[in-house]
Amino acid sequence: MLGEALRGQFPALNQEIGGHPLVYLDNGATTLKPDCVIESITSVYARDCANVHRGVHTLSQRATQRQEEARVTAQRFLNAPEARECIFVRGTTEGINLVANTWGRANLGPGDEVLITAMEHHSNIVPWQMVCKATGATLQVADIDDDGALVMDDYRAKLSSKTKMVSAIHVSNALGTVNPVEEMIRLAHDAGALVLLDGAQSAPHQPVDVQALDVDFFVFSGHKVYGPTGVGILYGRESLLDAMPPWEGGGDMIRTVTFEETTYAGLPSKFEAGTPNIAGAIGLGTAMEFLMGLDLAKVAEHEADLLRYATERLDSIDGLRRIGTAEDRAGLVGFVLDWAHPHDVGTILDHEGIAIRAGHHCAQPVMDRFQVPATARASFGVYNTREDIDRLVSALHSVKEIFAP
Ligand code: PMP
Repeated sequence: MLGEALRGQFPALNQEIGGHPLVYLDNGATTLKPDCVIESITSVYARDCANVHRGVHTLSQRATQRQEEARVTAQRFLNAPEARECIFVRGTTEGINLVANTWGRANLGPGDEVLITAMEHHSNIVPWQMVCKATGATLQVADIDDDGALVMDDYRAKLSSKTKMVSAIHVSNALGTVNPVEEMIRLAHDAGALVLLDGAQSAPHQPVDVQALDVDFFVFSGHKVYGPTGVGILYGRESLLDAMPPWEGGGDMIRTVTFEETTYAGLPSKFEAGTPNIAGAIGLGTAMEFLMGLDLAKVAEHEADLLRYATERLDSIDGLRRIGTAEDRAGLVGFVLDWAHPHDVGTILDHEGIAIRAGHHCAQPVMDRFQVPATARASFGVYNTREDIDRLVSALHSVKEIFAP
């Protein structure tokens, strides 16, 4: 049921770009949406259009019920102990900022350390940099090697009793590296640190079980799991979320308000001030059901096959160098060409109807580490096929004809 068999469910695939059928290989940036997700969002506005948690009328009750069902779906998707531990946020970026600014400001001070890795997305660097600056804590960075794998000896060496938080990418969006998160979490907990995982690139591609991982916080974006933009999930352990100060102040996150004092609502409302992205949350619920219906273990297998095939075929192109060659990789392949800049490659591939990403992938320190200004990246999703990769490879040969001397 993966690959070709799924394509009919994705209306965006049914179009031509420059006279060629679209090949979509930019799933790392965002995924296309299946009919069921589009219909789910449309039905909110067409039928159940109301604000949540506030109305006694039927439409509001329906909207509230559907949003809270989506939260229960998130609980199942992550195997979280409680649905109230799944907070609707705007996406991975907001989830990390929420933890950095609430937990971070309440718990970090001079002498404390936050440990990240050298392969983080900017959204898992900048919020911690900002909170370290504000609190006097220090940001530590664990090295990666020439394959783009985490150097575990360096990770161990940088973990100490000073480390209060390890915030790490689960699967790298620039390199495809799958981090050994079980071991990283065990070592962090032994050192007395909490762990946040940036699951933006893992949640779409493999089953995630926050209890088996024993992770303290896990964040992902709806739009990368075939759901809408502007919504995502922050999972946090109940005891930690309970102890954290609120994020934004406003409606829905309060118990009582007077001009002198406000008391806050319990979970999850405490972290969900204001009218949420109701249709987004409901659409995300449908997307998670869709992915679970495909079986995430099978999704992982399907994409591992595409990755193996793409790696083999790309390696047959002279002058192409893959960036990100760690043993354990998932979902994507990054590369540079001796004879053309990644942006030119991306533009010419677009003329052939092939969508890839070219740039620094919001991971400038990774580009610096590999001394490249940018890479081209083909990233895979549930609807991709080996034929898509054949089209990519054959178009790259055309690029070579244009640029290679
Ligand atoms: N982390 C990783 C690993 C990502 O790939 C992305 C998206 N490129 C993000 C964080 C940020 O996600 P969003 O823009 O949806 O908040």
